[in-house]
Amino acid sequence: MSDKFDVLVIGSGPAGYVAAIRAAQLGLKTACVEKWVDESGKTKLGGTCLNVGCIPSKALLDSSYKFHEASSELGVHGIAVKGTSLDVPAMIGRKDKIVDQLTGGITGLFKANGVTSIQGSGKLQAGLKVEVTAADGTVSTLEAGNVILAAGSLPVEIPPAPIDNEYIVDSTGALEFQEVPTRLGVIGAGVIGLELGSVWNRCGSDVVVLEALDEFLPMMDMAIAKESAKIFAKQGLDIRMGARVTGAKVKKGKVEVTYSNPDGDNTEVFDKLIVAVGRRPQSENLFTADSGVSMDERGFIFVNDYCETEAPHTYAVGDIVRGPMLAHKGSEEGVMVAERIAGKKAVMNYDTIPSVIYTHPEIAAVGKTEQELKADGIDYKSGSFPFVASGRALAANDSEGMVKMLADAQTDRILGCHVVGPSAADLVQQVVIAMEFGSSAEDIGLTVFAHPTLSETVHEAALAVNGHAIHIPNRKRRK
Ligand code: FAD
Ligand code: AMP
Repeated sequence: MSDKFDVLVIGSGPAGYVAAIRAAQLGLKTACVEKWVDESGKTKLGGTCLNVGCIPSKALLDSSYKFHEASSELGVHGIAVKGTSLDVPAMIGRKDKIVDQLTGGITGLFKANGVTSIQGSGKLQAGLKVEVTAADGTVSTLEAGNVILAAGSLPVEIPPAPIDNEYIVDSTGALEFQEVPTRLGVIGAGVIGLELGSVWNRCGSDVVVLEALDEFLPMMDMAIAKESAKIFAKQGLDIRMGARVTGAKVKKGKVEVTYSNPDGDNTEVFDKLIVAVGRRPQSENLFTADSGVSMDERGFIFVNDYCETEAPHTYAVGDIVRGPMLAHKGSEEGVMVAERIAGKKAVMNYDTIPSVIYTHPEIAAVGKTEQELKADGIDYKSGSFPFVASGRALAANDSEGMVKMLADAQTDRILGCHVVGPSAADLVQQVVIAMEFGSSAEDIGLTVFAHPTLSETVHEAALAVNGHAIHIPNRKRRK
């Protein structure tokens, strides 16, 4: 088969499928090649995010939080719930249904927008040709005016803890447990380790998180990381810092994990072990040496600010290129590339990408942290507001955490916002919009916020930046 498309996308994750839809919307003849198939051999669209990432993890986080609330949080409201129990296969089944609904939704969106879906593993060759090997072994070659590489990422494996998919699992396996492990080990206190650790902790597992670094959540603002560590400790998550896992062996149906910390060598025995030590770009066999595309030593494809690779008319977006491995970052890159191919002048603002850890409470951030501003020598001012001073948070019995806002000392322009607390992701999103419009802290301070809402904490933190907070004493009063 030989067919020519204006745009050929390899990979249908949030970077690839969004790029394909936008390209088709712009009138370009577009196809998306995806290698993932389900048990019946049907193409599974949506990539990591929809199948084994963002969506299934949030489904389990929501289910497990409802179970936790029903069993431990409702008493304070005067609601007695007796005999709560958890049907794990039903919880997993609900998650699977949501995944099927959303992945099927992409199939529908492709049809509606006229994107051709092609099953197979794509490999870019010289001259904008893509060789596609289907699941049944059939090989065909497609031609394209432009190629977008969106092959995403895979979990990192470490030699001390080889995945056996039964006792030692990666993030994908951790979304499939059919019963609650009595003792659960998690390697890595990053975003994925904390989210999956939280799911099973809420379901009743005794969870120990082993993290090699000494500092907890080093990418987050230090004040927020410190506050989060306190909250997680109260929830019973046993997070051990400076703990480097050196081995994991399955013995008599249990996993024996060895790790070293400053006190020496230690051993722990778990029913299951989740390895959550990061993700790596899926760039093997994606392009030939003469395609003109190149990558760094870790497998990230080299691109410029517009996601152009070193080969003409060839782009790369999402987890396979530099920047945070986040679905929304990949999607926006996909839109930018599709629009640039169509002759528009789209650019991407990498300074306002929000990041979220969907624990309870959530942790969310945008912009610079206080430690980054210090390191960059930027003169800044800061304002914080605790949820315990929010009427709405108290009403909801969900008042742990705080909002912290950072602004330029001279111009008052917002430089960052960091939240640990209820609905942190949605609160930070408000500041993302403000930053996108170049707002000052005063602009937010002058905005009317509905009362009583959690959003008022953003208002108060913005007011606190200039010493004008109303519902807490200001550290430094300014006129
Ligand atoms: P992917 O989603 O990885 O998609 C790449 C696709 O390309 C795959 O379908 C793959 O099969 C296909 N492919 C690869 N090579 C080829 C080839 N040669 N030919 C054809 N097809 C190919 N991010 C968030 O923003 N929010 C979250 O809450 C969040 N939660 C997460 C939870 C977990 C447990 C995990 C693992 C990840 C989470 N992420 C989250 C990260 C998010 O999933 C990724 O950032 C996102 O999926 C990256 O999108 P992508 O399109 O670049 O790649
Ligand atoms: P992230 O990249 O955010 O998913 O986080 C993964 C975490 O795993 C990082 O904080 C790493 O320090 C941690 N990590 C990697 N290898 C090990 C190991 N052998 N033992 C403990 N933690 C590890």
